[in-house]
Amino acid sequence: MTHTTDIPRAPARTALPALLRTALQLAERGLPVLPLRAGKLPFGNCRDCTRSACGDRPHMKAAGPCGCPAPCHGWAAATTDPDVLASPAWAKAWRQARAVAYHPGGAALTVVDLDHAGAVAWARQNLPATTTVPTTRGEHWIYFGTMTSPNAVRPGVDIKSAMSYARWLGPGTGTMTLLPDAVRALAVREPTTVRPVSGAVSMLASAGEAVCRHRSPAYLERGITMAEQRITVAAEAIHTTVYRTFLAVLSAHGRCGCLTEAHITRLFTVAQAKGESLRHCEAAWSNARIKLGM
Ligand SMILES: [Zn+2]
Ligand SMILES: [Zn+2]
Repeated sequence: MTHTTDIPRAPARTALPALLRTALQLAERGLPVLPLRAGKLPFGNCRDCTRSACGDRPHMKAAGPCGCPAPCHGWAAATTDPDVLASPAWAKAWRQARAVAYHPGGAALTVVDLDHAGAVAWARQNLPATTTVPTTRGEHWIYFGTMTSPNAVRPGVDIKSAMSYARWLGPGTGTMTLLPDAVRALAVREPTTVRPVSGAVSMLASAGEAVCRHRSPAYLERGITMAEQRITVAAEAIHTTVYRTFLAVLSAHGRCGCLTEAHITRLFTVAQAKGESLRHCEAAWSNARIKLGM
């Protein structure tokens, strides 16, 4: 080894893998970044971190003491620290990397990942305009603000913010706007998920739930039909059956404004066919409303 080659020199940036150079530029702008391997996936954990044997990193859901220098734990490896990004522990990953990803939540961002043209069309109609980035088949819409990161909130729509990563595909176009309620609302699981309902017992089981569980006229119709059947087949304790059935109907459908006079008349009609007086029907209906605080 000659004397002249002994001088330690930081590698020039031009000598770095192209994706690492991109990552360092993004990190300078405050985006925590990580390499992605083929298949747009983060690199697998090192041996110490396999199956979270390390206890996971401190900012993960199962917060642990992991301080692994390698890009382990997916999104949680993302960093803005240039020394970590350019460290020997990350070098192999950068050599094999196919893309750069960033951790949106770590930069106070939310990416609405619209997977196909249909999802983009939906967003254009329903979400405020913001920075958009073209993706392979769709678009990323990027808002300022953080939230949870549920997938498949709508057909072809994923949300990437806290505890997630998104592929870096360029700065995009358009002015970034604040994360709107319309996007936050996508993360709220609708309590109206249609479940198979197998008879009046299931419907009665919904008594006490404050939220309307139907999403379609067909669902409401099924509920009313079941209520009619339940009253019609009641062999005894008709007062109780009528009251409980009304309670179930009101509980499931009473707060959304979709129960009409016609529905109520149908229920009263079957109850009267079983010998209940109109006065009893009205009292039962009223008592059920009082019980539900309506
Ligand atoms: Zn590790
Ligand atoms: Zn670890």
